Amino acid sequence: MEVYEGKAKKVIPLDDGKAIMEFKDDATAFDGSKKARFGGKGWLNAQISAHLFRVLEENGVKTHFIGVAGDNRLIVERLRMYPVEVVVRNVVAGSLKKRLPLREGTELPEPIVELYYKDDSLHDPMINRYHAKILGISESEIREMEKIALRVNEILREYFRKRGITLIDFKLEFGKNERGEIVLGDEISPDTCRFWDAETGESLDKDVFRFDRGNLIDAYERLYQRITGEAPSRRL
Ligand code: 5GP
Repeated sequence: MEVYEGKAKKVIPLDDGKAIMEFKDDATAFDGSKKARFGGKGWLNAQISAHLFRVLEENGVKTHFIGVAGDNRLIVERLRMYPVEVVVRNVVAGSLKKRLPLREGTELPEPIVELYYKDDSLHDPMINRYHAKILGISESEIREMEKIALRVNEILREYFRKRGITLIDFKLEFGKNERGEIVLGDEISPDTCRFWDAETGESLDKDVFRFDRGNLIDAYERLYQRITGEAPSRRL
């Protein structure tokens, strides 16, 4: 089994059906055209992902998370990943501004679910269920992913609301385990979600890096503190 290395993570397969997911300090945006490295980002994203996966598991969502394996590593169940990103949106931001005539910050009357095909050479195009079928992903598999994604949204939206944070939108990835179950994989972190401070509207996520809105590590640390109630115990 091969080691997979992406822009912000490395997945190292183990021989017992598990894998190590290692979070890097690298950050990229706009199709990899903007790049930087932030000491401590890998640790923060690993810890935040672990925390949120635990919250989801406690609420009955099946995830690949098994445990934390050191500073910036998680142990996860190995999955056969679908080449699809499932995005859920509660508030208008990011690419939705180019699709609907609505102003940034407008709350949507109900969540929107979008599918994107993960392919750098095509720049991750938006797809629908018909496209997914051509890619070998059945309608029932897509429906299942969408159902889980909306459940994740219900749980996390409420979890963050109680902590003074608005969950604007986020991206999930799913895979199939050895038992044929569809399981939530990848990460849930400020790299893959938009979080706004409910009072000030400040971004506590990767938009800080995308749009030069301040110090990324400060923002991620503030998010960490708000969700765990603890000061970050390690800064690399
Ligand atoms: P948008 O489509 O507005 O750019 O992104 C919607 C949400 O999904 C944002 O929270 C964004 O961080 C996340 N997202 C979408 N595509 C990607 C991706 O390729 N990588 C990462 N890390 N996040 C993504």
